Amino acid sequence: MIERTELYCNGQWFTPSGLDVFDVINPATEEIVGRIPSATPADADRAVAAAAAASDAWGRTSVAERAGYLTRILEGLTSRAEEIACTITGEVGMPFKLSRRIQAGLPVAVLNSYITLLDGYSFEERIGNSLIVREPAGVALCITPWNYPLHQVIAKVAPALAAGCTVVLKPSEVAPLSAFILTEIIHDAGLPAGVFNLITGSGPEIGEHLVRHPDTDLVSFTGSLRAGRRVAELAAAAVKRVTLELGGKSAAVVLDDADLPTAVKSVVGACFINSGQTCNAQTRLLVPESRYNEAATLAVAAVAAYAPGDPLDDKTRLGPLVSAAQRERVRDFIKHGAAEGAGLLAGGAEPPDGLTTGFFVRPTLFGRVTPDMVIAREEIFGPVLSIMTYKDEEDAIQIANSTDYGLAAAVWSGDAERASRVARRLKAGQIDINGGGFNLLAPFGGCKQSGYGRELGRYGLEEFLEIKSIQLKE
Ligand code: NAD
Repeated sequence: MIERTELYCNGQWFTPSGLDVFDVINPATEEIVGRIPSATPADADRAVAAAAAASDAWGRTSVAERAGYLTRILEGLTSRAEEIACTITGEVGMPFKLSRRIQAGLPVAVLNSYITLLDGYSFEERIGNSLIVREPAGVALCITPWNYPLHQVIAKVAPALAAGCTVVLKPSEVAPLSAFILTEIIHDAGLPAGVFNLITGSGPEIGEHLVRHPDTDLVSFTGSLRAGRRVAELAAAAVKRVTLELGGKSAAVVLDDADLPTAVKSVVGACFINSGQTCNAQTRLLVPESRYNEAATLAVAAVAAYAPGDPLDDKTRLGPLVSAAQRERVRDFIKHGAAEGAGLLAGGAEPPDGLTTGFFVRPTLFGRVTPDMVIAREEIFGPVLSIMTYKDEEDAIQIANSTDYGLAAAVWSGDAERASRVARRLKAGQIDINGGGFNLLAPFGGCKQSGYGRELGRYGLEEFLEIKSIQLKE
């Protein structure tokens, strides 16, 4: 049991002024594994005041100085990677082996990428008689979700600090423990007081209070469409800059000339990672009508390899869902899918055999899903894959683009040019061709109701910068 009683502001841990706490539940055992305090609005105000007071001096530090601090944070994250992986498996339920690589490994890689990027990034350029300077945007409010808790924090905090912004971080109350570890690391790295501040609390109370606060200059938000919409609405009152990384309903378009066995196996993996609780999970597998039977057989076999089990067992590939509420939500979607006429090829809404404790859901595969069905349109955030068929390439593109989301997609084809042509017509922020890998330096984000703005690499850094033109007399 990890008990935290303090939050962090102005370079110091402090006891919040209220008595409310959040319990952190291990989703595999249903035991309470952590407890954190909740900030009050007064605590949140204190953190914003500290961040605002530190903003000017931090914004004027040299790039080398900021890179030096980030390097010290990197050393801390690296040396505590095992503890981070273990903590996140305990609160999110991702299999430990994967957690090591992704939940602990990815934040290290992302932070490192920003240290490298700072080295070559030009904050100034000349355009004619103008000097264009990119300056820190001020106090950055970072609000993050629970599914990749530290990655999502680092994807904001690293570029914010690199840009010269000061930070108020409000992590998810569902999986907050790694944010406390990061705060210890930041404290040990000796950042000037007020540059980084940690505030917890529920979204509707503390999250909204921070978004409304007149001294938070920009909001970088990752989470659900519902909350993102509210954040944008509140920020609009002060015309505050907002970046929204929201949900997805990503399609994998398998063209008729693709290597079907490889494609299907890869899509099942890209759907089920982190028990389907991944914003860019590929949840719709689009195959030509003529290859439906073959694809369904291959998918049933691939799904069978994802038996749910103990995240601490090295053989487990599918852990539980994060919470009882999330499990019920996913089961309801599964029931809905069956009720609206989709063919249940694997899994179902009943609890998995032999798993009476933990928020487990059967890995589920639906066949012959049509674009009008709820399971084809809404983000389920669970291990549920829908196979859909199309008539021709044009029809495939139309179906892939037929949801309100536009976060990610995939294209599979034996013809690289054809794949690229289709990729260009898909309305989404990132498209993988034939299993092309995740690139830490490429912009990550969506269009339509998946949000706006980009994270990672140079584009992620620029979200935290304001542009100023200084006209010079020649
Ligand atoms: P959530 O929206 O419930 O919560 C996310 C964060 O927002 C939490 O810190 C929460 O406290 C806060 N919050 C909630 N309501 C708020 C409000 N009204 N005002 C201010 N803050 C508020 O989302 P979640 O359940 O934690 O995460 C799952 C969602 O996040 C999914 O929809 C998923 O697709 C999305 N997500 C998107 C990306 C991406 O990069 N596009 C990445 C991961 C997760």
